Formats: sequence, structure tokens, C-alpha cells
Amino acid sequence: MSPEGLGFRDNNQNHNPSTKRKYDGGEEEFRFGNKPNGLYPGPDYRGEFLAGTSSPFRRNLSDESRAGKYIRIAGDSVGVIIKHLEVDQNKLKKAFLHFTKVINETEAERNRYLEDGKQGRLQCLACGRSSKDFPDVHALIMHTYNSDNADLNVDHLGLHKALCVLMGWNYSKPPDNAKVYQFLPAEEAAANQDDLIMWPPLVIIHNTVTGKGKDGRMEGLGNKEMDNRIRDLGFASGKSKSLYGRDGHLGITIVKFSGDQLGLKEAVRLAEHFEKEKHGRKAWGCIQPIKIGKDDEKNPNLVKVERNGEKKRILYGYLGMAVDLCTVDFETRKKVSIESQREYKTSK
Ligand SMILES: [Zn+2]
Repeated sequence: MSPEGLGFRDNNQNHNPSTKRKYDGGEEEFRFGNKPNGLYPGPDYRGEFLAGTSSPFRRNLSDESRAGKYIRIAGDSVGVIIKHLEVDQNKLKKAFLHFTKVINETEAERNRYLEDGKQGRLQCLACGRSSKDFPDVHALIMHTYNSDNADLNVDHLGLHKALCVLMGWNYSKPPDNAKVYQFLPAEEAAANQDDLIMWPPLVIIHNTVTGKGKDGRMEGLGNKEMDNRIRDLGFASGKSKSLYGRDGHLGITIVKFSGDQLGLKEAVRLAEHFEKEKHGRKAWGCIQPIKIGKDDEKNPNLVKVERNGEKKRILYGYLGMAVDLCTVDFETRKKVSIESQREYKTSK
């Protein structure tokens, strides 16, 4: 298989022969077409370089030693996708976070991908309506990574990354039909997903209903009451918003923090508080499905009876992530953006 077969063609055509790229190990300058000592492969070998030491293309190279030297120059970071490094990093990040939001905005949309095309063919969000459709996520990913539409290159790469994170696949390995890129340790896949939070940061708190009112509608903790509970826990900031549906209080309150270092810190600390109490995301997930409002008081997972006989609802909370977009109300969903915790912390 030639590198062109993997869609590197557009790069070869559009590429400036002298290009600076940044690798983990530092910045190296590669002058394609100008190969001092024969060390640097020309543009035709870029696909080979991309795929790194485990590349099947290596066998195609007539000069193995040249490849060996080249790989040594690049150090251990040969697994990094060069295509992603070739574009404006800010634009790529923006596109990635944008598509992460779009993909997660509704459960139905997300499931279409997670079901891997079994619910119907998939379209490319970057090309929009003009896009042809694809039988599964792999086919869509191949399209996004190998798109030859220069105008939408950054969008396609951002979508490629967003899809890989959603599926738990490796976005820093160029996708190919051997599907090696689909293998990523579960821990790493989870870390990639946990990294993407709603911004400004917020904590989602469950089980905040108080019972049925006289009119039959569900009632719950008011915003002020919740604010006070948060202050009692030692948080100076954080603004509560109860969520309501057709039948009243939904039993969900979101606590919003400011979109800055301090806000993030406080939101993380509040989420950690619930985690420490063993009332975090996992614990809430474990007691699902649950119908709030019916025999709640008999459920020890929902209501705790204090020593003095007082009944207290147990609150569950966690940091609002991209995957939680469909849990929050419409207004919040429209307003928030998605941010990478890792990148936010390192950029400040
Ligand atoms: Zn497309």
C-alpha cells in the first residue's frame, strides 16, 4: 500500500517543502526534498514516518537503514499524528471541542455513533449535508482523517479526534483498515473522556427532590436552599439551578462555577467531596434505574435516617462532563462550551 492510499496525497500536494514541526522530544526541522546525508525521507515517505516503527510500510522501503535513522531522529514520538500537528493547534482544538459538544448534545445523536452505524448510516458533521454517508464509525473516521477538502481540513481532524474519544479509540494513531487505532487501554480511554468538561465548570447533583406537593407536582430543594447547603460544605462560590420538567422538580440541581482557574478548582473540589462520601458518579450510576418520588423514604440509597429520626436525602454529585450534556436543561446545554481540563490547566 502506498502512503497515497492512506490519504496523505493532499498533504504532499499542498505541502511546503520546508516545514517545522514540533514533537514531544523538541523541535526538529525537516526539509523535504532537500535530503542532507540522505537522512530525511522525501514527501513520498511521510506516510511511513507517520506510522512509526510498527508501520507496515516500512517493509516497502527499499532502504531500510534510511528509515531506521529517520525513526531514531524522531525519537519515541513517532506515534504522534503528523496530520494533526500540521494544522493550527488553536483551530484544531476549537474544532475538536465543538464537535465533541455536537456529538454529545443529545443521547440519540451519541447513540448513533456508539451503535456503530447499526441505527443507520452516518454522515460527516464537517462536510454537512453534502457529505455522503458511511456504514460505520470506522468508515467515517477514515473519511475525516483522509479528507482532501483543504478548506475543511481542520474541521475534519477535529471531528476525527472527537469521534475517537467518544468511541474510546486512539486518536494519536493514524487510522487504517487494520484498525489498530481502535485499541486503547480502558484507563486511557476513560481519562480522555473525563478530561472533557462543560465550561464554565458545573457540578450535577442528583436526588434533590423533597416530595410531592399538594398539586401532585414534584417539589425539590430550592436554589437558595441548595446554595446554603453548598456554603455549609465549605464552598464560597457556586450558584445553584434546579431543573424542572413537566411534572415539576426533576431531582437534579446543577451548581455553576465561574469559568476560570478558581471556578474549576472549586467545582473539582465539590465533585471530590461527593466522591469521598462514595456518592459520586459511579454510585449514582449503580442505583439506576430508579424512579424518584416513589417510596423514596424506604430506599436507603436515597434517604438516610439520622440518629434523631430525621430523614435526610442523600445527595449524589459529579463534575459535568461532555457526556452529561443531555442531562442538563436546554438553556444550560446551549450556553456551555466544552473545555479540556488538561489543556486549560497547562495553558494558564
Ligand atoms: Zn467530511
